[in-house]
Amino acid sequence: MAQWARPALRALGLWGPSGELAWARRLRSTVGRPPSCPSAGVSSVSGNGGDSAKEKLSLQDVAELILTRACKRVVVMVGAGISTPSGIPDFRSPGTGFYSSFQHCDVPYPEAIFELTFFLHNPTPFLTWAKKMYPGNYRPNVIHYFLRLLEDKGLLLRLYTQNIDGLERAAGIPASKLVEAHGSFASATCTVCRRATQMEGFWEAVMEDKVPRCAVCTGLVKPDIVFFGEALPQRFLLHVVDFPTADLLLILGTSLQVEPFASLSEAVRSSVPRVFMNQEAAGSLAWHSRRKDVLQLGELVDSVDRLVALLGWTEELKDLVQRETGQLSGQDR
Ligand SMILES: [Zn+2]
Repeated sequence: MAQWARPALRALGLWGPSGELAWARRLRSTVGRPPSCPSAGVSSVSGNGGDSAKEKLSLQDVAELILTRACKRVVVMVGAGISTPSGIPDFRSPGTGFYSSFQHCDVPYPEAIFELTFFLHNPTPFLTWAKKMYPGNYRPNVIHYFLRLLEDKGLLLRLYTQNIDGLERAAGIPASKLVEAHGSFASATCTVCRRATQMEGFWEAVMEDKVPRCAVCTGLVKPDIVFFGEALPQRFLLHVVDFPTADLLLILGTSLQVEPFASLSEAVRSSVPRVFMNQEAAGSLAWHSRRKDVLQLGELVDSVDRLVALLGWTEELKDLVQRETGQLSGQDR
């Protein structure tokens, strides 16, 4: 993160004292916030007698807010949970998680493969993992296409993803609507001379189990994935504008454990509905829910299906998936 960016982030309470991204840092303390104030942003909730101060929102209410365009600046935050239906293991699930798969590799501890010092010492474990993540090995699923549908309907203000699998792009969501908070495989940089490197050369080397080298200085080339302790992409600063102007926040498939990403969930106005869909309750939404929070726990695909049905988009989404998966040759869902 550029130095100039840090004061802004600190001002929002999104940045720790060290000024560093710590992927695995858990929320150590409650994110403070003032008590909920009366609704200022969302005008009305139809169907259940209006937006009374004491009323909790339901998923149906949220669907109506979207359909009536009372909510049309939707910010979405997503994590590994949206990619597990595509076959990509969750980073942290014991036994089946991504980290578990490195227990027998030549790494001191699984997180080391995302540490720069270890990568410079031994890039092979990371490159072995990168090979598995080769674009096209995994395909977007129905959740990615639901987000694409939001974009197609002009409702998506921005999609903030912690995922580095590129499936949001693969689902057709334009790069301008994406903030890939932990980087992506879309670009790579030489670790020595800092020159941008052609991805073709990177993938060529990786697929042949070779170490990708810079054409200019022969330095080790690393994709622009954010490693532990590295700066977040500058696009992450878009949150300063996006979150205060959002009128709906969808949080899908993330346990809200990684900072500064997790604290973004607190950055929308208190009057803005937040829909949290995840396998289990997590993060500040579980500890300090707001009046307009809607929690949908359980299988993420089922929760998204439910919202899609309430929106009356089921057929449309099915058509989109069929159309796109035809192009992508044989994606299941
Ligand atoms: Zn170089």
